[in-house]
Amino acid sequence: MSQAQALRFKRPLIKLSGEALMGGASYGIDAAALQRFAGEIVGCQRLGAEVGVVVGGGNIYRGLAGAARGMDRVAGDHMGMLATVMNALALAHAVRAEGASARVYSGLSMPAVCRPFQRDDAAADMASGACVIFAGGTGNPYFTTDTAAALRAAEMGCDGLLKATSVDGVYSADPKTDPSATRYDAVSYAEVLNRNLRVMDAAAIAIARDNRIPVLIFSLLQAGAIPGALTGATRATLIDGA
Ligand code: UDP
Repeated sequence: MSQAQALRFKRPLIKLSGEALMGGASYGIDAAALQRFAGEIVGCQRLGAEVGVVVGGGNIYRGLAGAARGMDRVAGDHMGMLATVMNALALAHAVRAEGASARVYSGLSMPAVCRPFQRDDAAADMASGACVIFAGGTGNPYFTTDTAAALRAAEMGCDGLLKATSVDGVYSADPKTDPSATRYDAVSYAEVLNRNLRVMDAAAIAIARDNRIPVLIFSLLQAGAIPGALTGATRATLIDGA
Protein backbone atom coordinates (compact mmCIF):
# COMPACT_ATOMS: atom_id res chain seq x y z
CA MET A 1 0.00 0.00 0.00
CA SER A 2 2.63 2.55 1.01
CA GLN A 3 4.69 1.57 -2.05
CA ALA A 4 1.71 2.12 -4.34
CA GLN A 5 1.18 5.57 -2.86
CA ALA A 6 4.73 6.54 -3.82
CA LEU A 7 4.10 5.79 -7.49
CA ARG A 8 3.26 8.48 -10.02
CA PHE A 9 0.30 6.39 -11.16
CA LYS A 10 -1.64 3.68 -9.38
CA ARG A 11 -3.20 2.26 -12.55
CA PRO A 12 -0.95 3.02 -15.52
CA LEU A 13 -1.62 2.07 -19.11
CA ILE A 14 1.71 1.24 -20.72
CA LYS A 15 2.01 1.69 -24.50
CA LEU A 16 4.71 -0.59 -25.87
CA SER A 17 5.40 -0.25 -29.58
CA GLY A 18 5.90 -3.25 -31.78
CA GLU A 19 9.24 -1.77 -32.76
CA ALA A 20 10.50 -2.08 -29.19
CA LEU A 21 9.92 -5.83 -29.40
CA MET A 22 12.33 -6.11 -32.34
CA GLY A 23 15.28 -5.41 -30.06
CA GLY A 24 18.24 -4.90 -32.38
CA ALA A 25 16.65 -6.72 -35.31
CA SER A 26 14.69 -5.18 -38.18
CA TYR A 27 11.64 -7.45 -38.03
CA GLY A 28 9.73 -9.69 -35.65
CA ILE A 29 10.02 -10.47 -31.97
CA ASP A 30 13.38 -10.62 -30.22
CA ALA A 31 13.32 -13.09 -27.31
CA ALA A 32 15.63 -11.02 -25.11
CA ALA A 33 13.67 -7.79 -25.68
CA LEU A 34 10.42 -9.59 -24.97
CA GLN A 35 11.77 -11.02 -21.71
CA ARG A 36 13.15 -7.66 -20.64
CA PHE A 37 9.87 -5.79 -21.19
CA ALA A 38 7.83 -8.54 -19.55
CA GLY A 39 10.14 -8.36 -16.54
CA GLU A 40 9.78 -4.58 -16.36
CA ILE A 41 6.00 -4.73 -16.65
CA VAL A 42 5.84 -7.30 -13.86
CA GLY A 43 8.25 -5.04 -11.95
CA CYS A 44 5.62 -2.27 -12.13
CA GLN A 45 3.04 -4.65 -10.67
CA ARG A 46 5.40 -5.61 -7.87
CA LEU A 47 5.74 -1.92 -7.01
CA GLY A 48 1.98 -1.97 -6.38
CA ALA A 49 0.54 -0.78 -9.71
CA GLU A 50 -2.43 -2.25 -11.55
CA VAL A 51 -1.09 -2.54 -15.06
CA GLY A 52 -2.65 -2.48 -18.50
CA VAL A 53 -0.56 -2.69 -21.67
CA VAL A 54 -1.37 -1.78 -25.27
CA VAL A 55 1.04 -3.36 -27.73
CA GLY A 56 1.72 -2.11 -31.23
CA GLY A 57 2.42 -4.16 -34.32
CA GLY A 58 4.96 -2.12 -36.29
CA ASN A 59 7.60 -4.84 -35.91
CA ILE A 60 5.47 -7.03 -38.18
CA TYR A 61 3.11 -4.94 -40.29
CA ARG A 62 1.78 -1.39 -40.68
CA GLY A 63 -1.26 -0.68 -42.81
CA LEU A 64 0.03 2.69 -43.99
CA ALA A 65 3.32 1.20 -45.17
CA GLY A 66 1.42 -1.59 -46.90
CA ALA A 67 -0.82 0.96 -48.64
CA ALA A 68 2.27 2.79 -49.90
CA ARG A 69 3.27 -0.48 -51.59
CA GLY A 70 -0.16 -0.94 -53.18
CA MET A 71 -2.02 -2.91 -50.48
CA ASP A 72 -5.63 -1.99 -49.82
CA ARG A 73 -5.51 0.30 -46.77
CA VAL A 74 -8.29 -1.35 -44.82
CA ALA A 75 -6.93 -4.86 -45.43
CA GLY A 76 -3.48 -3.59 -44.46
CA ASP A 77 -4.83 -2.13 -41.22
CA HIS A 78 -6.52 -5.44 -40.47
CA MET A 79 -3.14 -7.09 -40.98
CA GLY A 80 -1.52 -4.54 -38.66
CA MET A 81 -4.11 -5.25 -35.97
CA LEU A 82 -3.50 -8.98 -36.36
CA ALA A 83 0.21 -8.27 -35.86
CA THR A 84 -0.59 -6.65 -32.50
CA VAL A 85 -2.39 -9.83 -31.45
CA MET A 86 0.72 -11.88 -32.20
CA ASN A 87 2.79 -9.50 -30.08
CA ALA A 88 0.23 -9.59 -27.27
CA LEU A 89 0.21 -13.38 -27.16
CA ALA A 90 4.02 -13.40 -27.00
CA LEU A 91 4.04 -10.75 -24.27
CA ALA A 92 1.42 -12.60 -22.22
CA HIS A 93 3.51 -15.75 -22.40
CA ALA A 94 6.60 -13.83 -21.29
CA VAL A 95 4.71 -12.18 -18.41
CA ARG A 96 3.54 -15.60 -17.22
CA ALA A 97 7.12 -16.85 -17.44
CA GLU A 98 7.98 -14.06 -14.96
CA GLY A 99 5.51 -15.61 -12.50
CA ALA A 100 2.64 -13.16 -13.00
CA SER A 101 -0.79 -13.72 -14.49
CA ALA A 102 -1.70 -12.17 -17.82
CA ARG A 103 -4.90 -11.75 -19.81
CA VAL A 104 -5.18 -10.76 -23.46
CA TYR A 105 -8.22 -8.85 -24.73
CA SER A 106 -8.57 -7.96 -28.37
CA GLY A 107 -10.46 -5.13 -30.03
CA LEU A 108 -10.82 -7.47 -33.02
CA SER A 109 -12.90 -10.45 -31.97
CA MET A 110 -11.13 -13.82 -32.23
CA PRO A 111 -12.43 -15.83 -29.29
CA ALA A 112 -10.46 -18.98 -30.11
CA VAL A 113 -7.26 -17.00 -29.55
CA CYS A 114 -7.96 -14.43 -26.83
CA ARG A 115 -10.88 -12.71 -25.14
CA PRO A 116 -12.91 -10.19 -27.14
CA PHE A 117 -12.47 -6.81 -25.42
CA GLN A 118 -15.02 -6.34 -22.67
CA ARG A 119 -14.50 -3.37 -20.39
CA ASP A 120 -15.92 -4.71 -17.14
CA ASP A 121 -14.11 -8.05 -17.39
CA ALA A 122 -10.84 -6.36 -18.23
CA ALA A 123 -11.26 -3.91 -15.34
CA ALA A 124 -11.92 -6.77 -12.94
CA ASP A 125 -8.80 -8.55 -14.18
CA MET A 126 -6.71 -5.41 -13.68
CA ALA A 127 -8.08 -4.92 -10.19
CA SER A 128 -7.32 -8.54 -9.32
CA GLY A 129 -3.65 -8.06 -10.19
CA ALA A 130 -3.46 -9.60 -13.67
CA CYS A 131 -1.42 -7.87 -16.33
CA VAL A 132 -4.08 -7.00 -18.88
CA ILE A 133 -2.78 -6.78 -22.43
CA PHE A 134 -4.94 -5.01 -24.99
CA ALA A 135 -4.44 -6.27 -28.54
CA GLY A 136 -6.12 -5.51 -31.84
CA GLY A 137 -5.81 -1.74 -31.45
CA THR A 138 -9.16 0.00 -31.43
CA GLY A 139 -10.55 -2.74 -33.68
CA ASN A 140 -10.93 -0.22 -36.50
CA PRO A 141 -8.79 0.68 -39.49
CA TYR A 142 -7.33 4.21 -39.87
CA PHE A 143 -6.30 4.30 -36.20
CA THR A 144 -3.01 3.57 -34.46
CA THR A 145 -2.15 1.77 -31.27
CA ASP A 146 -1.27 5.15 -29.67
CA THR A 147 -4.91 6.09 -30.06
CA ALA A 148 -5.92 2.64 -28.81
CA ALA A 149 -3.73 3.24 -25.74
CA ALA A 150 -5.44 6.56 -24.95
CA LEU A 151 -8.85 4.99 -25.54
CA ARG A 152 -8.21 1.97 -23.33
CA ALA A 153 -6.66 4.21 -20.66
CA ALA A 154 -9.88 6.24 -20.57
CA GLU A 155 -12.16 3.19 -20.61
CA MET A 156 -10.19 1.41 -17.88
CA GLY A 157 -10.03 4.43 -15.58
CA CYS A 158 -6.24 4.57 -15.81
CA ASP A 159 -4.65 7.54 -14.05
CA GLY A 160 -1.69 7.81 -16.43
CA LEU A 161 -0.48 6.77 -19.86
CA LEU A 162 3.17 5.70 -20.10
CA LYS A 163 4.42 5.94 -23.67
CA ALA A 164 7.68 4.06 -23.96
CA THR A 165 9.60 5.23 -27.02
CA SER A 166 13.08 5.82 -28.43
CA VAL A 167 13.57 9.41 -27.19
CA ASP A 168 13.72 10.65 -23.61
CA GLY A 169 10.82 13.06 -23.87
CA VAL A 170 9.18 15.71 -25.98
CA TYR A 171 11.37 18.11 -27.96
CA SER A 172 10.60 21.37 -29.75
CA ALA A 173 11.79 19.69 -32.98
CA ASP A 174 13.12 16.26 -33.96
CA PRO A 175 16.37 15.90 -31.94
CA LYS A 176 17.63 13.30 -34.42
CA THR A 177 17.69 15.85 -37.26
CA ASP A 178 17.69 19.29 -35.58
CA PRO A 179 20.57 20.01 -33.15
CA SER A 180 18.82 23.15 -31.85
CA ALA A 181 15.86 21.10 -30.56
CA THR A 182 15.15 21.72 -26.86
CA ARG A 183 13.56 19.25 -24.48
CA TYR A 184 10.53 19.88 -22.27
CA ASP A 185 10.22 18.48 -18.74
CA ALA A 186 6.51 19.26 -18.94
CA VAL A 187 4.29 20.48 -21.75
CA SER A 188 0.55 20.94 -22.15
CA TYR A 189 -1.73 18.91 -24.39
CA ALA A 190 -2.55 22.17 -26.20
CA GLU A 191 1.09 22.92 -26.95
CA VAL A 192 1.72 19.41 -28.26
CA LEU A 193 -1.29 19.75 -30.57
CA ASN A 194 -0.80 23.38 -31.59
CA ARG A 195 2.91 22.97 -32.31
CA ASN A 196 2.34 19.56 -33.92
CA LEU A 197 5.08 18.05 -31.74
CA ARG A 198 4.46 14.54 -33.13
CA VAL A 199 5.09 12.53 -29.97
CA MET A 200 1.80 10.70 -30.36
CA ASP A 201 -1.08 10.98 -32.80
CA ALA A 202 -3.25 14.05 -32.38
CA ALA A 203 -6.21 11.72 -31.79
CA ALA A 204 -4.41 10.07 -28.86
CA ILE A 205 -3.44 13.41 -27.30
CA ALA A 206 -7.00 14.70 -27.70
CA ILE A 207 -8.47 11.66 -25.94
CA ALA A 208 -5.94 12.04 -23.11
CA ARG A 209 -6.74 15.76 -22.83
CA ASP A 210 -10.50 15.30 -22.86
CA ASN A 211 -10.28 12.67 -20.13
CA ARG A 212 -7.53 14.44 -18.14
CA ILE A 213 -5.12 11.54 -18.41
CA PRO A 214 -1.50 12.65 -17.96
CA VAL A 215 0.92 11.17 -20.51
CA LEU A 216 4.57 10.41 -19.75
CA ILE A 217 6.96 10.14 -22.69
CA PHE A 218 10.23 8.35 -21.96
CA SER A 219 12.98 6.30 -23.59
CA LEU A 220 13.29 2.54 -23.30
CA LEU A 221 17.04 2.71 -23.84
CA GLN A 222 18.05 2.14 -20.21
CA ALA A 223 17.22 -1.14 -18.49
CA GLY A 224 14.52 -0.57 -15.87
CA ALA A 225 13.04 2.34 -17.85
CA ILE A 226 9.41 1.28 -17.41
CA PRO A 227 9.27 0.86 -13.61
CA GLY A 228 11.57 3.89 -13.44
CA ALA A 229 8.94 5.95 -15.27
CA LEU A 230 6.48 4.96 -12.60
CA THR A 231 8.71 5.88 -9.67
CA GLY A 232 10.14 9.03 -11.26
CA ALA A 233 13.65 7.59 -11.73
CA THR A 234 13.44 7.60 -15.55
CA ARG A 235 13.82 10.97 -17.28
CA ALA A 236 10.54 11.78 -18.96
CA THR A 237 8.33 14.57 -20.27
CA LEU A 238 4.94 14.95 -18.63
CA ILE A 239 2.12 16.02 -20.93
CA ASP A 240 -0.89 17.30 -19.04
CA GLY A 241 -3.16 20.29 -18.81
CA ALA A 242 -0.52 22.61 -17.33
N1 UDP B 1 -4.01 -0.50 -36.51
C1 UDP B 1 -5.32 -0.20 -36.91
N2 UDP B 1 -6.19 0.26 -35.98
C2 UDP B 1 -5.86 0.45 -34.67
C3 UDP B 1 -4.53 0.18 -34.28
C4 UDP B 1 -3.63 -0.29 -35.21
O1 UDP B 1 -5.66 -0.36 -38.07
O2 UDP B 1 -6.72 0.85 -33.88
C5 UDP B 1 -3.08 -1.09 -37.50
C6 UDP B 1 -2.38 -0.06 -38.38
O3 UDP B 1 -2.24 -0.62 -39.67
C7 UDP B 1 -1.04 0.08 -37.70
C8 UDP B 1 -0.77 -1.33 -37.24
O4 UDP B 1 -2.05 -1.80 -36.82
O5 UDP B 1 -0.05 0.52 -38.60
C9 UDP B 1 0.22 -1.48 -36.12
O6 UDP B 1 -0.02 -0.52 -35.12
P1 UDP B 1 1.00 0.70 -34.83
O7 UDP B 1 1.56 1.21 -36.13
O8 UDP B 1 0.30 1.67 -33.97
O9 UDP B 1 2.13 -0.06 -34.02
P2 UDP B 1 3.45 0.51 -33.30
O10 UDP B 1 3.94 1.70 -34.09
O11 UDP B 1 3.08 0.90 -31.93
O12 UDP B 1 4.39 -0.66 -33.32
